[in-house]
Amino acid sequence: MRYLVISDIHSNYEALEMVLDDAGSVDEIWCLGDVVGYGPDPNSCVELLTSYPHRCIAGNHDWATVGKLDLDDFNHDARLANLWNRDHLTPQSRAFLNSLPEMLVVGEFTLAHGSPRYPIWEYVMDGATALDNFAYFDSPFCLVGHTHVPVVFSLDNANKRVDNSIPSPGASVDLDSDRLIINPGSVGQPRNGDPWASYIVLDTEANTVEYRRVAYPLEVTQQKMIGLGLPSRLVTRLQYGW
Ligand code: ZN
Repeated sequence: MRYLVISDIHSNYEALEMVLDDAGSVDEIWCLGDVVGYGPDPNSCVELLTSYPHRCIAGNHDWATVGKLDLDDFNHDARLANLWNRDHLTPQSRAFLNSLPEMLVVGEFTLAHGSPRYPIWEYVMDGATALDNFAYFDSPFCLVGHTHVPVVFSLDNANKRVDNSIPSPGASVDLDSDRLIINPGSVGQPRNGDPWASYIVLDTEANTVEYRRVAYPLEVTQQKMIGLGLPSRLVTRLQYGW
């Protein structure tokens, strides 16, 4: 089976559309949360995602738009954009976001937005945090998003340490002996200095994960955001990928 694994779409329709096109044929999409927030197209993103066979879990922005999380925990611009997203959700989008589970286990994979320890909020940014989190899931592999940075943490169980690698586009990661925490990066607001949409393709026959990036017309997304009065810092950051 081939799975498209994506995270942090953040209402960026242009990026999502390009990723779906670039990924080619897949059996199912696994989305690791934050479908909405920040960007200008929450409803079209929900509609496009749910038009495919998919599984999706909740992110902090998804919960905030439906009132399950306090917006006081967000920074100023994130809060403004989240309120705009909240005010423009259709009843169908709201019902979808409301229905998202905090975690899923599918075969050998645990899916969590932030981390398996604290699925909605924790950022797995470093080896020490990753090491702690390996104790919080039973499957061989865990897929997380939330940081918007593509990374693979591998557990060296004998030595009680974690190695991390930043896979370049085109890199293939073998799913063999090591337990891994895998972050596909972000579709709609990448933060590792590369503006293009990041995603992975999981191939359960080849037993690999392939890292990919695809360019999208970000100026179209930016123009929509400007037209809607979304915070200018959120507009600018798209072109720098931070
Ligand atoms: Zn996010």
